[in-house]
Amino acid sequence: MTLSFAAPDRPHWSDQERIDEIHAAPKIGQHFGEQVSDHMAVADWTVSNGWSGDAITDYQPLAVNPANAVLHYAQEIFEGLKAYRHADGSVWLFRPDENARRFNASATRLALPHLPEEDFLTAVRQLVATDARWVPDPGSGEKSLYLRPVMFANDDFLGVAPAGKVRFAILGSPVGAYFSDGVRAVDIWVERHEVRAVPGGTGAAKCGGNYAASLTAQLAAQDRGCAQVLFLDAVEHTWIEELGGMNFMAVTSDGRLLTPELTGSILSGITRKSILRLAHDLDLVPVERRISIDELHDAVRAGTVQEAFACGTAAVVTPIGALVDENGRFELPSPIGEVTMTIRQRLLDIQFGRVEDPYGWTQ
Ligand code: PMP
Repeated sequence: MTLSFAAPDRPHWSDQERIDEIHAAPKIGQHFGEQVSDHMAVADWTVSNGWSGDAITDYQPLAVNPANAVLHYAQEIFEGLKAYRHADGSVWLFRPDENARRFNASATRLALPHLPEEDFLTAVRQLVATDARWVPDPGSGEKSLYLRPVMFANDDFLGVAPAGKVRFAILGSPVGAYFSDGVRAVDIWVERHEVRAVPGGTGAAKCGGNYAASLTAQLAAQDRGCAQVLFLDAVEHTWIEELGGMNFMAVTSDGRLLTPELTGSILSGITRKSILRLAHDLDLVPVERRISIDELHDAVRAGTVQEAFACGTAAVVTPIGALVDENGRFELPSPIGEVTMTIRQRLLDIQFGRVEDPYGWTQ
């Protein structure tokens, strides 16, 4: 059965009320995800009856029993995507089908049920249509409505077992540019001891546990004035994996765009995938392979890597200014590199409809 995520009936508005509503600029929280929109999408699943109860409801707290399995065993997955307002007022999503697919890949790893991709997309579209006024005008910045689908075990039962009851929800949060003061290069803490994911673990899934495991390293990074953590592989503590919430890329002086290959413990970022595709059209050669932290240091020292950046939905493309570890601060020669900024601009132009989208990514 296909889910409809029917929106609540709207009150009868006068034309003026409707115009006022559309023009009321949504409030944007000071911190990422602090401000939420008016509605949410919800659906429930049980092992005996499948999915039901799909609707767009008012944004409201969810009642959670203290014995709820997710609080104890973290059987949970989520996604992150954005709705963008174009200059003509229309609202667009960027590759939401990729999020739908990754959501189900995460569900498989966490022993959660699949939500058919079509239903995931209907829920996203219905929520965005209902809360369209919450999609900010980008203005000169990069404001958008961040959407956070989540699915979690909903059994009130302390035994360790795959969920027999599950809840799905999507909430919306108007967000500003990641850096309110323009694009900055950030320092990255290279974590040489703690790891975020292990071979055979859940690193390739978007589940809360991966993020919980990254937080002590994030605190260590903050103590050193670093914005993000660069995690290395769990076996040799040598190979670059990814950042706490973004993928890693480096640009070589002979025009290659290097990024760690997907090993099973790295999240397959949609921004990563899109940039690898864009690279071709920007005369760069995309290369996915293992990159050791020593190779990166050597390449920066030799001048063959001038720029590096992090990429993901939230921060788009973030230039890396320096790699920091116990041995000190190691600066990239071009902290806000030309190639990095070209890729960043190209991606934003497509997302905000400032150029034609030749890839069919926006819908
Ligand atoms: N890695 C991690 C660990 C992330 O949380 C994210 C953000 N979803 C990314 C990479 C980038 O993925 P995407 O480009 O799909 O946002």
